[in-house]
Amino acid sequence: MKKKLLGAVLSVAMVATLLAGCGGTAATTEAPAAPAATEEAAPAATEEAAPAAEETAEEAPAAPAGGMKVGVAMPTKDLQRWNQDGSNMEEQLKAAGYEVDLQYASNDVQTQVSQIENMINNGCGVLVIASIEGDSLGTVLATAKEKNIPVIAYDRLIMNTDAVSYYATFDNYMVGTKQGEYIRDQLKLDTEAGPFNLEITTGDPGDNNARYFYQGAIDVLQPYIDEGKLVVKSGQIDFDTVATASWSSENAQSRAENIVSSTYADGSNIDAWLCSNDSTAQGVVAALDANYNGEWPIITGQDCDVVSVQNMIAGKQSMSIFKDTRTLASQVVKMVGQILSGETVDVNDTKTYDNGTGVIPSYLCEPVFADINNYKELLIDSGYYTEDDLK
Ligand code: BGC
Repeated sequence: MKKKLLGAVLSVAMVATLLAGCGGTAATTEAPAAPAATEEAAPAATEEAAPAAEETAEEAPAAPAGGMKVGVAMPTKDLQRWNQDGSNMEEQLKAAGYEVDLQYASNDVQTQVSQIENMINNGCGVLVIASIEGDSLGTVLATAKEKNIPVIAYDRLIMNTDAVSYYATFDNYMVGTKQGEYIRDQLKLDTEAGPFNLEITTGDPGDNNARYFYQGAIDVLQPYIDEGKLVVKSGQIDFDTVATASWSSENAQSRAENIVSSTYADGSNIDAWLCSNDSTAQGVVAALDANYNGEWPIITGQDCDVVSVQNMIAGKQSMSIFKDTRTLASQVVKMVGQILSGETVDVNDTKTYDNGTGVIPSYLCEPVFADINNYKELLIDSGYYTEDDLK
């Protein structure tokens, strides 16, 4: 199945179409000037935080794509999406004429640090990094900055280092908002009396995105919790308590099993389970399958992983968020080219993502709501999956 899937994702025609750009609706705004390129190396991040770079595009000589090596550091092959992200990046960068050094780090921070060191030592001119732990790359990226190698944080913001030039992601807060709104609308919280039982499972505390997903959803649901219409019966609501180390399905499953066998041992129903992504939703589904006899709850997710789409079709997961990894990759490839040629880099958010050293100019792609009613149009008609992939 994986082969077929990747085949679909990587079809050359698709790549060509997608190079057209990211998302249909995200508006582009004035971007800060790209850092100036040097003769021999890729453009430098400035002494100041990179976002505030003042160099003008005119000063930056265009860097030829041919022969330039781009390092792409991905967190893990364990989750489907990162395989797609990595493949899309590699394919699209190669199509644009770059050499690519693509590495996966098995969710091990030290492995990722070593891989990035190697990329720096092996002459990569730009680094594109989806970090495992946002806070752990400061030292290695200080070396990148010394060598004037620009860094694009991919999907996850890299924290507390001024070596990050740009950030490209999906609107993470909006992902959470859509999940929260789905629960609100499905339970008809504005008109039904309730109370409804809710449980919450979010992601890895070391991933900056996890807090945005959580907060986006909680901001929608909190008023109903305050009103008593939504009851988090386990009492487990604060971010650290509902977090899932490594976003692992197994960790999500064992916490869910504990909740089901304690809080719901009295036979009461769980009405909704807010899960921040598909891997955690799959863990919760497994726990409920094994131990829960009440009415099946509304379960949210994110990524449209094959297994979760199959669960949606089987009625076990209610929705997911489709983040088309092809569009994120094409946006990042575009940004790489703009950085290297000294053009203005396409960003559409210069307010939201402060990594502790200042706001990082960002490009936010738009996440799309997916459920049983629209998955065919979103996923199959667009060529993301084939019907067979989902069997
Ligand atoms: C990504 C999600 C993904 C999660 C686990 C997050 O940073 O934005 O799409 O589900 O990591 O890999």
